[in-house]
Amino acid sequence: MNKHLQPIYDKLAADYPYQKEFLQAAYEILDSLGPVAEEHPEYVKEKVFERFVIPERIISFRVSYVDDKGEVQVNHGYRVQYNSAIGPYKGGLRFHPSVNESILKFLGLEQILKNSLTGLPMGGGKGGSDFDPKGKSDREVMAFCQAFMNELYRHIGDTTDVPAGDIGVGGREIGYLYGQYKKITNRVDGALTGKPLSFGGSLGRKEATGYGLCYFASRALDKMKGDSFKGKNVVISGSGNVAIYACEKTTELGGKVVAMSDSNGYVYDENGIDLDLVKQIKEVRRGRIKEYLEKYPAAQYVPDCKKIWTVKCDIALPCATQNELDIDGAKALVENGVIGVFEGANMPSTLEATHYFVEHKVLFGPAKAANAGGVAVSGLEMSQNAQHLSWSKKEVDARLKDIMENIFDRVYATATKYGDAYDLPKGANIAGFEKVAEAMLAQGVI
Ligand code: NDP
Repeated sequence: MNKHLQPIYDKLAADYPYQKEFLQAAYEILDSLGPVAEEHPEYVKEKVFERFVIPERIISFRVSYVDDKGEVQVNHGYRVQYNSAIGPYKGGLRFHPSVNESILKFLGLEQILKNSLTGLPMGGGKGGSDFDPKGKSDREVMAFCQAFMNELYRHIGDTTDVPAGDIGVGGREIGYLYGQYKKITNRVDGALTGKPLSFGGSLGRKEATGYGLCYFASRALDKMKGDSFKGKNVVISGSGNVAIYACEKTTELGGKVVAMSDSNGYVYDENGIDLDLVKQIKEVRRGRIKEYLEKYPAAQYVPDCKKIWTVKCDIALPCATQNELDIDGAKALVENGVIGVFEGANMPSTLEATHYFVEHKVLFGPAKAANAGGVAVSGLEMSQNAQHLSWSKKEVDARLKDIMENIFDRVYATATKYGDAYDLPKGANIAGFEKVAEAMLAQGVI
């Protein structure tokens, strides 16, 4: 690592030894910013890098509610307001038992660069709770969301901090959160995105991350290999929001999705996954992916989600969660001749796996660039709310495609400028960082 940046990482490692996801993300980013530190001594002097890796504010609070049995339940709630140099804090809320400060700091740090890459004026943030919506009734989810908002409302607003969904937070949760926000503040504004369409949501938001991922991948395949999705076998991990719409767009672009998963295991269907059935199982019934075999007994179910990377494919789209694709998965994919790996989830590949792909000249689209479509359309939702307008789905989709292609072009140009066209992770970090650093420098030491 660069001599100016290594001490910054070492201090983070000493201060937060137990925050392994945060340290992993911070290392990956700092490690690639060496050329920027050399080119911009003013960033070093003004300690822009030190300030960049420390959140402006972390809010940590208790959330208590009464469940259906009349028992009091207690959870942790957080909002990490990481960086507002280029706009209001913006980033999702995650409800999952694994949520802690380390995971939210890694997600928030990545989010700063991702939001910068979209070209829209959005700062970076992230939040959530260790609450698990799985197995809870709608009434319990509502009670939890209301209790969560009873604290969060003080810290958010359309010009300060605009949360959205993430794992465990979809339209239902955003609806309950927004209802409580409105009740407490008496304001109808765009303080949350990912809202249902009937009260200020944007057409195309639900599909945006998955579709955007495929627009990014298509552009990469075209510009770097003169190729496309047509006739390709594709493996997608996860079967949530990102995975489902990545599957839909892949199929529309001529690819065949042969495997999808959940946290228990994966299904393989050589005839191509029946997405309507997956939507029924996951979106309507909130069931398990293995139920796929009830309709297609000839498909295979493997009760080990990590093994999905041993399925032979041309393109892999990890769309489930962080660190789901490790070095063994990366080696299996490369051995089976994968051409491209594009990250729909946040940091799904370990550092080792990422380096392996780059070294083996696999087209590797890092999350902060490849999955920026979700936040980009959230940004478009903010614009529509501010203007009291709704754009058509066609218009939103055209803007999304344009944004994703621009992101690829900038990231690719930056990677090429710094010596390795295949090192898109480095290209994304540098391209995203430069705008934030300029804004921080211009705004003085605050
Ligand atoms: P969802 O909650 O809708 O879906 C998550 C999916 O991943 C579920 O199918 C879940 O299965 C599965 N899963 C969880 N852990 C594993 C695992 N270890 N192996 C295999 N599958 C697993 O979340 P989203 O689709 O919204 O988010 C997925 C990822 O995309 C996250 O990393 C998120 O941060 C990122 N992302 C999401 C955006 C969005 O707009 N939603 C925007 C940008 C990034 P199960 O049902 O068993 O839990």
